[in-house]
Amino acid sequence: MSETVPRACVMGYPVAHSRSPLLHRYWLKANGLAGTYEKAEVTAEDFPAFLQTLGARGYRGGNVTVPHKEAAFRIVGRHDAAAAAIGAVNTVWHEGDRLVGGNTDAYGFAAHLDASAPGWVERVRRAVVLGAGGAARAVVHALLERGVDVALVNRSPARAHEVAAHFSDRPRAHARGELAPLMAGADLLVNATSLGMAGRPALDLDLERLKAGAVVYDLVYVPLETALLRSARQRGHQAIDGLGMLLHQAVPGFARWFGVTPTVTSELRALVESDIRTTAGAA
Ligand code: NAP
Repeated sequence: MSETVPRACVMGYPVAHSRSPLLHRYWLKANGLAGTYEKAEVTAEDFPAFLQTLGARGYRGGNVTVPHKEAAFRIVGRHDAAAAAIGAVNTVWHEGDRLVGGNTDAYGFAAHLDASAPGWVERVRRAVVLGAGGAARAVVHALLERGVDVALVNRSPARAHEVAAHFSDRPRAHARGELAPLMAGADLLVNATSLGMAGRPALDLDLERLKAGAVVYDLVYVPLETALLRSARQRGHQAIDGLGMLLHQAVPGFARWFGVTPTVTSELRALVESDIRTTAGAA
C-alpha cells in the first residue's frame, strides 16, 4: 500500500482508555511532523491477522497493549534484546518486509529513574520488586542490566520463582513473609503489582522497616499519588509515580515510526496528568 503520511497505531482490546494517542499526537505537533497515530481496537481472535498485515494496512508500526503483548511476541519475525528477555512485545516496526517486536517498558522505567533520581545506579545496590507479571519482568530486566541485585516478592510465590528462573542473571524470589527484612536492606522498592490502581485495593505495606534513604517507585499512575507513594513521602523517601515510565517508554517507538527522537517535557506530563484527572477512574 502506498504511504502518504507515516501512520502508527495502538492495538488493544479495549483500547478506548489508551493514552498513547495523546502522547504521540503531542509529539507529532510539537515536532511539526506530518503523521497520524490511531487507536485500533482488535479482539484476541482478530489480532494475529491484523498484526501480520500491519504494513499492508498502511502502518509503519505501532504499540501493542493489553491483552496482546504475549501474542505479539509469538507473531513477530524478530525480537529486540529487551523483548527477548521479557517475553512480551509492546512496540512493533518494520525492517524491510520483516516485522520486529521490541519492549520499551524496561527502557521507560530506567529512563524515568535516570531523569528523576540522577546517579541512582551508584546508590542502588539492592532492589525489592513486588509483583511477577509483565510489568515486573520489565523492571527486573532493567535493574539486572544496570547491575542491581533484585529480590522478587509476589502474592503467588510460584509465579515469582517462574520469573526468577526466566532470567539468566537470577533475581531471587522470596515469600511475602520475608519482605520486612528485605526492605531493611533495600535501596529501591518498586510496586509492579496492580494494587493501588483506581478501582483496586491499596497495597497494604508498612514502610517502617524500609531502609532510610530508599527510593519508592510505584508503576501505577491512575491515581498519580497512590497510598504507597503518600506514605513514602511522609516518611521522607523519594517517591516516584508510574506516569514518567509511561511517557519515556513511548520515545523509542515514535523515533522508529516518525524518524525524530522526541523529548519528554513537563508540558507533555501536564497534558497527560490533566487527562488522568478528568477521566479519573479509567485505567
Ligand atoms: P499483571 O501481569 O496482571 O500482574 C499483576 C501483578 O499484581 C501480579 O504479580 C499479581 O500477583 C499482583 N496482584 C494482583 N492482585 C493482587 C492482590 N490482590 N494481592 C497481591 N498481589 C496482587 O499486570 P502487569 O501488566 O504486570 O501490570 C502491573 C501494574 O503495572 C499495573 O498497575 C499496570 O497498570 C502497571 N504498569 C505501568 C506501566 C507504566 O508505564 N507506568 C507499564 C506497565 C504496567 P499474582 O501473580 O499472585 O496474581
